[in-house]
Amino acid sequence: MFGKVLIANRGEIALRVHRACQEMGIRTVAVHSTADASAMHVRLADESVCIGPPAARESYLNVAAILSAATITGADAIHPGYGFLSENADFAEMVEAHGFAFIGPTPAHIRMMGDKIAAKTAMRGLGVPLVPGSDGALASLEEARAVAAAVQYPVLIKAAAGGGGRGMKVARSEEELEEAWRVARTEARAAFGDDSVYLEKYLDRPRHIELQVLADGYGKVVHLGERDCSLQRRHQKLVEEAGSPALSPIERDRLGALVTGALGRLGYRNAGTLEFLWQDGQFAFIEMNTRLQVEHPVTEMITGIDLVKEQLRVAAGEPLGYGQEAIRFHGHAIECRITAENSETFAPSPGRVTTFHPPGGMGVRVDSALYSGYSVPPHYDSLVAKLVVHGVTRAEAIARMRRALSEMVVDGIDTTLDLHKRIVEDPEFQAGDYTIHWLERFVARGR
Ligand code: ADP
Repeated sequence: MFGKVLIANRGEIALRVHRACQEMGIRTVAVHSTADASAMHVRLADESVCIGPPAARESYLNVAAILSAATITGADAIHPGYGFLSENADFAEMVEAHGFAFIGPTPAHIRMMGDKIAAKTAMRGLGVPLVPGSDGALASLEEARAVAAAVQYPVLIKAAAGGGGRGMKVARSEEELEEAWRVARTEARAAFGDDSVYLEKYLDRPRHIELQVLADGYGKVVHLGERDCSLQRRHQKLVEEAGSPALSPIERDRLGALVTGALGRLGYRNAGTLEFLWQDGQFAFIEMNTRLQVEHPVTEMITGIDLVKEQLRVAAGEPLGYGQEAIRFHGHAIECRITAENSETFAPSPGRVTTFHPPGGMGVRVDSALYSGYSVPPHYDSLVAKLVVHGVTRAEAIARMRRALSEMVVDGIDTTLDLHKRIVEDPEFQAGDYTIHWLERFVARGR
């Protein structure tokens, strides 16, 4: 096992990785920008190195500074967390070229799945069902018109290099297609420096259901069940559940067998998530994330498996010591993503947290880098806490979430705590009766 791991990230996920390392007797190195000098991950890590000014591109995305920090501290491996460099194949390649282990998949798999068109082509070849749409990148608006006519409106133009819901535009009719095509390409070029786009049928009432997998690179692949991440605003997840209130154990097994078979043939390594849209009893693959995801704790709560420890073991070359039959699902888990934003307007609200009081009690987990007196910097993602609960049943998990939300205090900044309190009170949410479009309408109704 590694002796020392550098954590190339910040915020709650840097703490999450630090905690797993600590429990395994691995020393940790935090890297940080000047804006994060007093951040919790810096305080808790065994060592820390300042890698640049506040702007992410000069610090958390600064590959040379991160590799230098790993060299001078004598780290054996680098964990990229999520976001930042976690899905950058060139970074993974450089980490390995410098003699460190990259705690994630091979650079080739990161590269393949980072290009959504290549990912869909690979999955089609492995027998995984896709959302109907173009076979690859669209060469022209005329081609987009022809494909849209074939799959029928509404359609979605999506960036091949997409992420975070950017470079994605809906066209409800042929009249809207030209505008969607133009805007999606402009956004994609600005955000990713690559304006290749493809087209998918826009599903009108799907759920977002994703499957967590773990693979050792020696051919063994297991899945840890599904997460339902249908509660989204602007294609960004706000609340996640494991398992999905809409999926039966038989459907879960069917999806699990399909996905683990496909990734086994691909020779995949480390943790990954395949995202699907699920409508009318059919799964359709949309993308694969080759990293740990924000919502991984709900899976940990129902399986009892620490995903970060498993990532570390696999990255150190250990084979998975168990098969699918050893994985059992217990109860139900829900996560609320609490961000430093206004609950009604979603205006960002960085600044000083005067009081932070996390909830506690049975079945409650808070992953957060907040503390009383901490200043949330304006430079990064607005996620400040993940409140995760576990219950024997979904109803108990909801009651527990309601109770935990009522105990939690974050004073000094605006947060989305109030929005989450309203969601858990809603009868449709309580009935598990929602699609990916539900939350947008709920938010619009509330104002
Ligand atoms: P990103 O990588 O930018 O997050 P995804 O491909 O993962 O993009 O899609 C994000 C979200 O957008 C999905 O969870 C879903 O809510 C919505 N979405 C994506 N593709 C479709 C589609 N074909 N029809 C309807 N909604 C979609």
